Amino acid sequence: MKLKDVQIKKTIKKTILLNPGPSTTTKTVKASLIQDDICHREGSFAAITRKVAEDLVKIVHGKKNDYVATLFAGSGSICIDVAVGSLIPDGKKIMIVNNGFYNDRAMQAAQYYRIPVVNCAFDILTLPDLKVVEETLAKNKDDVAAVYMAHQETGTGLCNPIREVGAIAHKYGKIFISDTTSTLGIIPIDVYKDNIDFCMASSQKGINAFTGCSFLIGKVSEIEKLKNYKPRSYYCNLWRQYEYFKEHGEMNFTPPVQIIYSMQQALKEHFAEGEKAKYKRFMDISKIIRDEAAKMGLVELLDPAITTGLVIAIKYPEDKKFNFKKVHDYLFKEGITIYPGKIGNLPTFRLCNLGANTPADVKAAMKELKAALKACGCKVPFPKKCGCCK
Ligand SMILES: *Cc1c(COP(=O)(O)O)cnc(C)c1O
Repeated sequence: MKLKDVQIKKTIKKTILLNPGPSTTTKTVKASLIQDDICHREGSFAAITRKVAEDLVKIVHGKKNDYVATLFAGSGSICIDVAVGSLIPDGKKIMIVNNGFYNDRAMQAAQYYRIPVVNCAFDILTLPDLKVVEETLAKNKDDVAAVYMAHQETGTGLCNPIREVGAIAHKYGKIFISDTTSTLGIIPIDVYKDNIDFCMASSQKGINAFTGCSFLIGKVSEIEKLKNYKPRSYYCNLWRQYEYFKEHGEMNFTPPVQIIYSMQQALKEHFAEGEKAKYKRFMDISKIIRDEAAKMGLVELLDPAITTGLVIAIKYPEDKKFNFKKVHDYLFKEGITIYPGKIGNLPTFRLCNLGANTPADVKAAMKELKAALKACGCKVPFPKKCGCCK
């Protein structure tokens, strides 16, 4: 029996998520979740999964048979776990270019697997010093198997130089792994030009599908080497998942079926809009957030020049009436979500630009932000400070 019409009885309210994932989805992506029940072992479903995996490789311009996407059921961090736990052979180290919360998550994964780390640490508010990166790698070149760095540090919005760090890794014959979870699908990435051997992301971020499927895109020739590595995990194991997919054309163990339908739809919309146009839309939105925030006298944590424009970290205004929770709750009632910062003890909040929003949506959201600040009792715009008393 084929169900003709599935009616979504409850009216779905339009909300605008300005938090760092999950991101706003389109109506059509929401609707794609409702499908006939199907067993994931059916050929027709497996074909959808394979097409999704192929399309993910296309997003980063990998050539078929040269790069492959391996899918996992889990939030984005599962790929940090899989990459760190699978790609370092016994007796070797991982070098982490570490300037933030997400690179630190890879450090923790390495510690859990008892993998030795070369911690190439930098201040979280600045770009890594490439000279120091190279010196550190040169000093440890006999021990290090892979260099790891997040593309965007989502806590601050800092845009790390993946192409340059990838080139340094390759100069010393090391693989380069990048956590591109909060950029892939929005900022154009080309695995060849960007010197990426492995990158990763998750369904709920830049491709704007639902939460629950994460993927590691990697160089086939490097994955093939893993067959000889001693495994550290039964489930979070790149070789096992890759080999099963290659042999059977589907995921080992139950995939997140509905999420994969939503990825299929979101990818269709991604390619229909086109890489360039999509990136431009996000940059237009970024400009709206920045311009409107500046008009309110809000001050950004970082110099925009070193950020992606996808996460805008704002310092708490120095107004005694300002109360993040109150502002958040006011906006939440209006269908808008903003997010606290993640930067040690620096009081910040984040306006993120990662979802299927339109410039008009975000302009309206910024108007509501102003209303929320005023409702708190703040005097908006906040008084400007001159450069000398920053
Ligand atoms: C969101 C994100 C992740 C994954 O976080 P989850 O909560 O596990 O989905 C990993 N890395 C970066 C850079 C991210 O922005």
